[in-house]
Amino acid sequence: MTQFDINRKQKIYELISVLKLISLLICGMVLFTQYPEESYNEIWMTNETNNIYTMNYIGIIILVFICEGWLYTNKKNISNQVFNLNGFIETIVFILLYTGLIFISGFHESQYKFLFLFIIIANTIQYGFKVGINTAIINSLIILTIDLLGVKTSNINKYFEVDLVLSGVFIMVAWLLGYYVKLENQYRDKAMLLANLDELTGVYNHRYFQNTLSQHIEEAKKKNTNICLLFIDIDHFKYYNDLYGHSAGDVVLSRFGEIFKQTVREQDIVARYGGEEFAVIIPDICEEEAVKIGNRIRDVIENTYFEGEENQPNGKLTISVGVSCYPQKAKSKQELINTADDALYRAKFFNKNRVESYYSVLEELKSDIDEKHIDLISSIKTLISVINAKDRYTYAHTDRVVIYCEFMAKHLGLSENDRKILRYGAYLHDIGKIQISKDILVKRTKLTDEEWEILKSHPANGVEVIKPVATLKEVWPLILHHHEKFDGTGYPKGIKGNGIPYLARILSVADSFDAMTSNRPYSKRKTYEEAILELEKYSNKQFDPIIVKEFIIMIELNKEILDI
Ligand code: GH3
Ligand code: MG
Ligand code: MG
Repeated sequence: MTQFDINRKQKIYELISVLKLISLLICGMVLFTQYPEESYNEIWMTNETNNIYTMNYIGIIILVFICEGWLYTNKKNISNQVFNLNGFIETIVFILLYTGLIFISGFHESQYKFLFLFIIIANTIQYGFKVGINTAIINSLIILTIDLLGVKTSNINKYFEVDLVLSGVFIMVAWLLGYYVKLENQYRDKAMLLANLDELTGVYNHRYFQNTLSQHIEEAKKKNTNICLLFIDIDHFKYYNDLYGHSAGDVVLSRFGEIFKQTVREQDIVARYGGEEFAVIIPDICEEEAVKIGNRIRDVIENTYFEGEENQPNGKLTISVGVSCYPQKAKSKQELINTADDALYRAKFFNKNRVESYYSVLEELKSDIDEKHIDLISSIKTLISVINAKDRYTYAHTDRVVIYCEFMAKHLGLSENDRKILRYGAYLHDIGKIQISKDILVKRTKLTDEEWEILKSHPANGVEVIKPVATLKEVWPLILHHHEKFDGTGYPKGIKGNGIPYLARILSVADSFDAMTSNRPYSKRKTYEEAILELEKYSNKQFDPIIVKEFIIMIELNKEILDI
């Protein structure tokens, strides 16, 4: 429920509370009129009458206060206005009060049967048509029963006849008012819906998206559940607009809106975030499932024909999708939006028309990176996410290489600066794979000579990629030489022994160890013992023997922490 709705319901509740209090005061006045006229003259004379009056007076004031207190307490739970136990108790109390008054003011002859109208009107406005009609029927039955009980002897029951008309009035009031409230609610809901929709695409607008996401996050916090967010951006849409004009672009946008709505579940919320960007809030779902939904939408769009799409740069109109998840990937609404946006950026980076979920290995390191290097995070973050996305089979490979390097740095007692360079180097060592096609990276069969040459270009490419970031200058040698071999048979330079930078030699061992112990398309995973044997076997050939020795000691020492 929006704040607007809550405010509106509170106003109605206040109005009804005033109505109920007025009815209580009228009840009090009725009570006072029940004393015989002669006692009016003696009112201040006899002590007894005086006491009765004072008690009545105090009684009514207390009743008004209790009623006010009760109404005030209920006001806090106004968000759900269904006829619940509180509503039931309130109705019963008022009905009993009015019946009691009728009792003492002449039973069937009482002129105060109209008092029931108060609770009928209040219930109809507050709870709607059904509750109003039911209250009217019950109250009618009460007054008619009183008439039947009160007049037993006469053949013609005058009171019954008159009260039959009054019952008709009760039901008419409930019916008319209930119908009006129903109509008004229907129109209001429709107006609210129109105000929340985006005119062009028919999906929800940005304001509604922001409000709903906040509410869902609050709910997820309370219930300990997940929310996933998809960020969708149309690929090369400017190109389409430039080619066919904005009106044609608008037609496409509108169809996209329709397709998105049809493709997601009923409880998911599709909104137009801005221009040609959409967002989908998917409550109560794990990230994996959200990625599946993202892929389903992407697939439907790819397989739908849009007029003129054959002239798009990739031959069709497609979308890129970023996925993030609260609370696993983001701790707040803004973080959820930012991380989904980051993931979308990554999807765009990889030739578009794909779904990416948010991942950043740098997040964990953020805390121990110096203030002055914090601004580097965003540029490194982008580059790292690029590697992870493209080199899917080694998902978290970079992460693990960083961990091995950290342990080695500590074990070897490296200086703080060397540690930092090694850490950045570990994060960025495969950055050059950005320029290598995925087909080569994930190829299961043996690479051809030509493909092998392309793969071998990634250290040099990597340096090119990070060259604009001057602060990373000390990291360049690590990236360039992490595939050099100790005997000089490596690439790209074929340098050997101590000619290879020290930190690059450490990185080479850590990188190879993780490559051996994780599943790669071209080779089966080795056990840790097998990998250690392999390191020993290639010690002095591929790897620096001293580093291999220290690495094995480090692994043995940290077996438990590393979960080996
Ligand atoms: P990319 O693949 O990187 O997303 O490239 P792009 O061309 O789609 O670039 P971008 O996402 O920045 O898209 C912005 C373009 O979207 C600019 C404008 O032509 C188009 N656009 C934004 N809002 C509207 C709109 O309401 N109607 C139409 N027809 N086009 C819009
Ligand atoms: Mg855009
Ligand atoms: Mg776009």
